[in-house]
Amino acid sequence: MTANDRARSRKPRRPAKPFRPRAAKARRRALRARLAPVDLVGLLVTKPVNVRYLTGFAGSYGALLLLHDRTVFFTDRRYERQAAEVDGAEVVIAPGDLIAGVIGVLGTDGDGLGFEPGGLTWGTGQRLRTLLPGRAVVPAPELVEELREVKDDDELAAMREAARIATETLPEVLGGLRAGVTEREVALEIELGMRRLGGDGLAFDPIVAFGEHAAEPHHRPGERALGRGELVTLDFGALVEGYRSDMTRTVVFGTASPRQREVYELVRHAEEAGLAALRPGVSCAEVDQACRRVIADAGWGDAFGHPSGHGVGLEIHEAPWVRPGGSGRIAAGTPVTVEPGVYLPGFGGVRIEDLAVVRPDGHELLTTAPRELLEL
Ligand code: ZN
Ligand code: ZN
Repeated sequence: MTANDRARSRKPRRPAKPFRPRAAKARRRALRARLAPVDLVGLLVTKPVNVRYLTGFAGSYGALLLLHDRTVFFTDRRYERQAAEVDGAEVVIAPGDLIAGVIGVLGTDGDGLGFEPGGLTWGTGQRLRTLLPGRAVVPAPELVEELREVKDDDELAAMREAARIATETLPEVLGGLRAGVTEREVALEIELGMRRLGGDGLAFDPIVAFGEHAAEPHHRPGERALGRGELVTLDFGALVEGYRSDMTRTVVFGTASPRQREVYELVRHAEEAGLAALRPGVSCAEVDQACRRVIADAGWGDAFGHPSGHGVGLEIHEAPWVRPGGSGRIAAGTPVTVEPGVYLPGFGGVRIEDLAVVRPDGHELLTTAPRELLEL
């Protein structure tokens, strides 16, 4: 096989792995700079996605102790080989007892150590405190989550690919809608379609909602069969190299009624208003308000009861949180969803969601499916 053959046989547009050792080191440097302002000498990172972000290690048992002058990675024998690939870290094999390993490295006395409340059980947190009596052991603010908001080019390449896969799966799935098909069957088609197009899997369990079920924002697909004239809401995303996409479209299976069209156009305008508000430094509250105002002005404010969007990356829902009163700001390079909806019990609902990354001059859409009302 020549080099040219190899190049041709590779999947097109497949991004490079989004973890380069140099990037992981830079992330750890940036994290260290955030420790002193919150009075910590070190941070014990145990939340798996945060460990992955800072080391590239994606196994099920790993933790990182980040001190000013040391980086210590804890794992067990199963992962000894992968642990050796964690660049620039001392590796400690701590079979079954992370806390004992941490104490062995730290000693029991000294300055404040932060832990991730979302990454340790309450019992483990208590044990850490009891066994380190000479140290202030405190729940740390979400420092790694804050760092993860702005993505680098490799991370964005993975997310762009995950978004492309979802976007290209949509017409295939819509083309397969038939009277009598069930929500579960459509959910399966979504999964198969995304895997066929090169996805590593699902970003989350797809939401497929027919008719009155579309009034539930987080409906789980069931045995409900599709009938003519019904709303169909599909909310799904693909997984590529650990990174996720998220997109929702609502269509009508048949000819839209005037009311379906009215609600649809309202949500479409709300979504476009939210997207138009995206620019570097915009507050989460402002983007949320841009969506919400359109719906409230039309008199449907009570029918939109969830946040307007969220960050996406290694997790499907992550900071920043685009919600009413959200105090955070959205920096350039941050992917967020914009996803207003109107939900009317008994009638159904409409949600339209896109994933966009904030750019210096506004935003770049990652999901690019058409937004006009489709009647199938
Ligand atoms: Zn979604
Ligand atoms: Zn979403």
